[in-house]
Amino acid sequence: MLWEKQKGSLGIYDPNDLTLRIKPKMSKLMLGKILFHELWHIIVDLNKKKIIDIGEEKCALLTEQFAVILKKNPKLKQLMNNCLK
Ligand SMILES: [Zn+2]
Repeated sequence: MLWEKQKGSLGIYDPNDLTLRIKPKMSKLMLGKILFHELWHIIVDLNKKKIIDIGEEKCALLTEQFAVILKKNPKLKQLMNNCLK
């Protein structure tokens, strides 16, 4: 993962070099949303699915809810933190 300024996007995953580039300096909540969004791209890519079949707009709206759900549910967030230790 690299911190790097992006043109017109906050984060981008390149399946060719398997690199995730994230724009520096954004709010923590926005960073959380973007990380989940980009993770979704990686999951989709690794499972040989095409975003075009799902739609980028729909992906953005749906995946960003990961961050919102976790922010509103501290117990769930803690549980997930523990799972990732
Ligand atoms: Zn996207």
